Amino acid sequence: MIGCRCGTCCSPDPRDRRSRPSILFEMGGGARVLVDTTPDLRTQALAHDLDRVDAILFTHCHADHVMGLDDVRRFNVLQRSAIPCYGDARTLAELRRTFSYIFESKDEGGGIPLVQLCPIAGPCSIGGEEVVPVPVWHGQREVLGFRVRNFAYLTDCSAIPDSSWPLLAGLDTLAIDALRHRPHPTHFTVEQALEVAARLAPRRTWLTHICHDLPHAATNAALPAGVELAYDGLRIDI
Ligand SMILES: [Zn+2]
Ligand SMILES: [Zn+2]
Ligand SMILES: [Zn+2]
Repeated sequence: MIGCRCGTCCSPDPRDRRSRPSILFEMGGGARVLVDTTPDLRTQALAHDLDRVDAILFTHCHADHVMGLDDVRRFNVLQRSAIPCYGDARTLAELRRTFSYIFESKDEGGGIPLVQLCPIAGPCSIGGEEVVPVPVWHGQREVLGFRVRNFAYLTDCSAIPDSSWPLLAGLDTLAIDALRHRPHPTHFTVEQALEVAARLAPRRTWLTHICHDLPHAATNAALPAGVELAYDGLRIDI
């Protein structure tokens, strides 16, 4: 956090250096599907040698999840193609408004991202694999989590509607919002995330979207077996 001198922000542990929330799927056929384009996308791509993005899934249009969209221009150049961007109708409408210069520009390719907005309302084949959108509550608004195979990514959520629990049955690995211990109107606390994990009973649970209230090593040491804090650069097989 800017200007903060707390133990987490001053920690020498690299796992306490957290950029904004995003993940990348490497699908079975090699396609790379990015979830969200954070303000840190450029540095994340450089840090992890990302040189291709075949599709983008958007969870919702909050600034910490979309403000790096302009940086996909570099992938357009490398791939010589536009990139399909999937999201629910509200998120796509908000992207059109937030990035009006992309969608209203009359200039042909003149330094703007080449993206195609694709509404997603149910399971869909993306990058050669089935992607299941999982609606969750993020405060008063519905946003999307995503399931691929037996892995689900639920960033930014504070409640799971009854209709979405069946979409999460039989998970092997869950990544879920756990902002901090103190209650928050739009994010699960660690304790609430653990309740969801206990109900879904995946083999492994990774907590994400964590704030500086949660130092990595000390928080991890207090979590139950099979649950850990995620960290930048984490790779898992699904
Ligand atoms: Zn801090
Ligand atoms: Zn959000
Ligand atoms: Zn967020």
